[in-house]
Amino acid sequence: AALASGAEGVGLFRTEFLFMDRDDFPSEEEQFDIYRRAAAMLKGKPLTIRTLDIGGDKFLDYMETPEEDNPVLGFRSIRISLARPEPFKTQLRAILRAGACGRVQVLFPMIQSVEQIRGAKAILEEAKAELREEGLAFDENMRIGIMVEVPAAALIADRLAGEVDFFSIGTNDLTQYVLAADRLNEHGAHLYDPYHPAVLRLVEMAVAAARRAGKTVSVCGELAGDPLALPIWLALGVHELSMAGALVLPLKSVLLRSSAEAAAGVWNRVSRLSTAAEVKAALREAAAAAAAESAAGPAGPQA
Ligand code: PEP
Ligand code: MG
Repeated sequence: AALASGAEGVGLFRTEFLFMDRDDFPSEEEQFDIYRRAAAMLKGKPLTIRTLDIGGDKFLDYMETPEEDNPVLGFRSIRISLARPEPFKTQLRAILRAGACGRVQVLFPMIQSVEQIRGAKAILEEAKAELREEGLAFDENMRIGIMVEVPAAALIADRLAGEVDFFSIGTNDLTQYVLAADRLNEHGAHLYDPYHPAVLRLVEMAVAAARRAGKTVSVCGELAGDPLALPIWLALGVHELSMAGALVLPLKSVLLRSSAEAAAGVWNRVSRLSTAAEVKAALREAAAAAAAESAAGPAGPQA
């Protein structure tokens, strides 16, 4: 489905759906089979597999987790994986083995510190050592990435960039955490806005740190598929965007009518604005001007 929608790969394979609606953890073989088939179907295009990101709003009936007042700020995602290394290692073994069947990269969610990424990498190394010992085929040099979705990660992006091969900026959670506005809470809906200048400033910091370190940076979450935001990614030098399949072609058509120079001008104006409403108004104005210009003449692809 991703390829049919014009995607160049899969930027975010959310594995939690494999773990939900069942009675026990999926075995290594079960996971391997699914990851392997997805990797093979992509025929050399990258498959980015995110390790289990549960807790917060998604729970597993068969895994006991503590009752919490604020689960979104509590025991979720990589925090669970590091505290319960056995199921985590099983998943990593399956992902590493799928790497022998296609172009697979592993993505760790909700990283907030260098200790956490080092902890995850240590378990990845244990999984590799086991597979080596057992003589099973796997990708020795699998690319490792982290989601930048906790504000702390964006703030120390320069330190984290040294630990990984790529960043994936998760704009949904980054917005929720930097604005302290629950993304699922209807009472806070007016506070949750990915165009808030604070969100954009953190994105800018993370992209700049990745680029300075020579690492790949992609953007995912709802904002990545919003054509309005496209000049921001072009101006900052984001390498990849990850979005729902249905959004790929519409976004590509806007991309082909965009110019890097015009995007730099838009970002120059937008990055000085003070409110989300001003940012959106300026982006809408820029999009309307670009559409009028492309309707006036066949400028062709420039970006
Ligand atoms: C995000 O947080 O932006 C993201 C893409 O991950 P999820 O929506 O699964 O939390
Ligand atoms: Mg997230």
